[in-house]
Amino acid sequence: MADKQFDVLIIGGGPGGYVAAIRAAQLGLSTAVVEKDKLGGICLNWGCIPTKALLKNAEVYNLLKHADQFGFTFDNLKADFSKAVKRSRDTSNRLSKGIEFLFKKNKIEHIPGTAKIAAKGVVEVTQPGKTDRIAAKHIIIATGARPRSFPSIPIDKKRIITSTEAMVLPEVPKRMVIIGAGAIGVEFAYLYSSYGTEVTIVEMMDSLLPIEDREVTKALRRVFEKSGIKVMTETKVESATASDNDVTVTVSNKDGKKELKADIALVAIGVQGNIENLGLEALGVKTDRSFITVDEHYRTNCEGIYAIGDVDGPPWLAHVASAEGIHCVEAIAGKNPHPVDLGNVPGCTYCQPQVASVGMTEEKAREKGYELKIGRYPFRSHGKAIAINETEGFVKLIFDAKYGELLGAHIFGSEATEMIAELVAARTLETTAEQLIQTIHAHPTLTEGVGEAALDAYGEAIHI
Ligand code: FAD
Repeated sequence: MADKQFDVLIIGGGPGGYVAAIRAAQLGLSTAVVEKDKLGGICLNWGCIPTKALLKNAEVYNLLKHADQFGFTFDNLKADFSKAVKRSRDTSNRLSKGIEFLFKKNKIEHIPGTAKIAAKGVVEVTQPGKTDRIAAKHIIIATGARPRSFPSIPIDKKRIITSTEAMVLPEVPKRMVIIGAGAIGVEFAYLYSSYGTEVTIVEMMDSLLPIEDREVTKALRRVFEKSGIKVMTETKVESATASDNDVTVTVSNKDGKKELKADIALVAIGVQGNIENLGLEALGVKTDRSFITVDEHYRTNCEGIYAIGDVDGPPWLAHVASAEGIHCVEAIAGKNPHPVDLGNVPGCTYCQPQVASVGMTEEKAREKGYELKIGRYPFRSHGKAIAINETEGFVKLIFDAKYGELLGAHIFGSEATEMIAELVAARTLETTAEQLIQTIHAHPTLTEGVGEAALDAYGEAIHI
């Protein structure tokens, strides 16, 4: 006998699970979410949000350090990192409470505890001292992912740490080696180097942010190196060994082996799905490496069991988790939702200058055989950028020469992560270069760079 019964039961209250729950409730389905930790998942508690709070602190600190450019000088500028950490933690806690409020508002039951699927349509929820059985017609697994590690890089959470520990360090380390130059590695490199840490970032591929357009990653590398961050690409980390006083990271590249000494090594080499202890093996739910295999409606091979978000594989992004959650419950409710188009997912990195993109890189578009028209607009020629003293970076738009389709958009610069929204909408609406050119951008805004880049693709830019 089940203790309770729901139409939809979601395991995990991250941006996949909690958004799916709200949409399910809106659609009239009785809904519960089992969460073993805090509502909001990694995103609100240990991912997107707390990092952005910390990065804002780094941005403010950098602005203050260069405030003389605006006519402000300080005799004794001090940075209290513990206050940055506190602000970040407060932000997360406030938002997690906000999800509790949204659950109440939408009559979603929040069941604290660890969930395991006991049988088709039955979930066991364990809390200290008791286990309940909950029945649900549809069970959605939204258990997320955790940082990946290797035996040769053993995480001790003191000297060899993950992003979670990196968000609450008691003090700013003198030297830090960051292993992996994806968005997380790059964001922490910017954060800690802003606070004075000597940062070395090591990446096996040939650039920072390997999935981004090469023109952007080269520009980012130049800015990082100028700011004092050491960048080692095409370099493999062989091992990391912690001692009481420091950590030794052994790396190898075409120049041979080298030992890097640091106070902290931050491991940011990707994630693995949280698929353990969910009862998946007994039910025969298909997985691929550590991720659950799903179809276009997020159904697993087992009827009535679905998976959304980080646990079903890349891209590991909060907005993808939410989009998948909404699609999944709309399909459950018998609607005919649009497919989640992974070709139109914005990718954002919140270092300064920021990196944001949607669609294909130039390299990818060429590899696919497109004939291209490419337009660029540098912020150094941009009135608003000059006025706000943010002249680093550019907008780069890639069009198919034949039909003017926007194949890819890449922005490197201040507010890039806000500006990209226009280009995501443009791609969703299948906007052509001509329509982008016709779009009137407010003056003065950084978004004028988008219009100018589109014009530049056709040799018609006005301000360069
Ligand atoms: P999660 O957010 O991981 O939530 C899963 C939840 O399930 C957790 O709360 C967990 O406690 C719970 N759970 C797991 N197992 C069980 C169980 N058996 N029973 C009950 N509960 C369970 N993405 C972006 O889009 N933008 C960013 O800027 C960004 N920054 C990031 C920065 C960092 C440092 C990190 C680590 C990640 C970042 N991400 C970012 C990625 C983003 O956080 C994830 O893509 C997103 O959280 C995935 O959502 P999810 O709902 O699939 O899983």
